[in-house]
Amino acid sequence: MKKFIFFPLSLLLLSTAISGQVRIKKDNNRDIQKKETKKTVQPPVMIEEPLLISPTLKKTYDFSNVKICIDKSNNYDPGPRLSKAYPEIPKLNSNGQLEPQVIRQKLTAETNKMWPTESVITVAFAPNQTTNFVVNKVKQYAREWEKVANVSFSFITDWKNAHVKVSFIKGGSWSWMGREVLNNPQGQTTMNFGWFDDNTPDIEFRRVVIHEFGHALGFIHEHQAAGARINWDVEKVYAYFAQINWSRDDVNRNIFAKYSQTSTNGSSYDKTSIMHYFFPEGLTIDNNSFSFNTDLSSLDKLYAKEIYPFPPRPTTQTGVLSTGDDCDAIKFIVEYNVIPGNFIEFSLEPGVDNSGKVVTWWKQIGIPLLGGAENRDMQLLADGKTTKVTISRNIIDETRGMSFAKAKFLGVHTGLGFTWKVWEALPGGCRVRFIWQNDHCY
Ligand SMILES: [Zn+2]
Repeated sequence: MKKFIFFPLSLLLLSTAISGQVRIKKDNNRDIQKKETKKTVQPPVMIEEPLLISPTLKKTYDFSNVKICIDKSNNYDPGPRLSKAYPEIPKLNSNGQLEPQVIRQKLTAETNKMWPTESVITVAFAPNQTTNFVVNKVKQYAREWEKVANVSFSFITDWKNAHVKVSFIKGGSWSWMGREVLNNPQGQTTMNFGWFDDNTPDIEFRRVVIHEFGHALGFIHEHQAAGARINWDVEKVYAYFAQINWSRDDVNRNIFAKYSQTSTNGSSYDKTSIMHYFFPEGLTIDNNSFSFNTDLSSLDKLYAKEIYPFPPRPTTQTGVLSTGDDCDAIKFIVEYNVIPGNFIEFSLEPGVDNSGKVVTWWKQIGIPLLGGAENRDMQLLADGKTTKVTISRNIIDETRGMSFAKAKFLGVHTGLGFTWKVWEALPGGCRVRFIWQNDHCY
């Protein structure tokens, strides 16, 4: 069979899951697939790809051989997506007071095809269909998603049980959408790469693999996103795609059909998305031009993080507590995600006061525990040693604040009239350091 040639087209963007109305019927896809594999298509004359490619890219790759992907869907509704929201950590001001909570507007509509955050999606490759080189390239570029979305791909050899089943049958490249792969009783291939070999340029591996794995995460074609406003010159689009033997129906489904606003949840239309097809100039009535996208756009990355969020990054909050007694000043430093998530580590350290003297003597900070007791192991003694206390987060009594006490006049251990209750800002996994910087007025 003569190698078939398609005109360039890159895909695009990312947005969300697919709605029923634009789902591609399997049978139709099969037809298209057949057409793709059997027909030899001449490069359309109307395309001038080099104009769209940077000189650097042009040197490394001939884009006249770029192919189109047509994507499949199996009409399976996996049900509501279980999405995970990480709690926002409230801000502490420099006095140790909780800042008023800012409610961040989250994207609301979750689409059913998306995976739960933190999913481990298993991927297997059909044996003996391609080289190790190609398989490794697919793995490499699939993992690009792991940098921007909190999911991971686990490459396994167990074809039967893998979520995503990847084949390398010559022809089209396509993928099922997101969690549709969970309903695959006949163990069908769910993703295909139809034109990779050892001579495929890296940029083409990147473009196509990221795009198809974007579908596997539930992202749709950007040019079909609800927000896409493309003023197609309809007849010209039909004529253009007729060159690769697409019927008007194929074009309607793969180009013109829009996902409904309610079934998808996307950023504003992003024509630089990796999920956007490339279209040559002349197909819109307003002479819109499209870039040839070969990598995740900045909006792709941003939106992937919104849909598949990562836990809050480790940060630090700091300030100084004033107890109101004797000009006491206690610096606090909260570090996040630094110890196992079900514990908090507290420590009390000596500071150096304004006169240059190390603050020691007896000091104590108490942690309120459920049942009314208090952990009082956190003490600063004359030896000036730091004391550390690690407490299970779930035995802390959040209705009470931490208590502060010190040796006062004549060494009498005295509770200070100050408590610190900011438990919302002290989740499990954090370390709270107290540095008693001053313990008397001048
Ligand atoms: Zn696609």
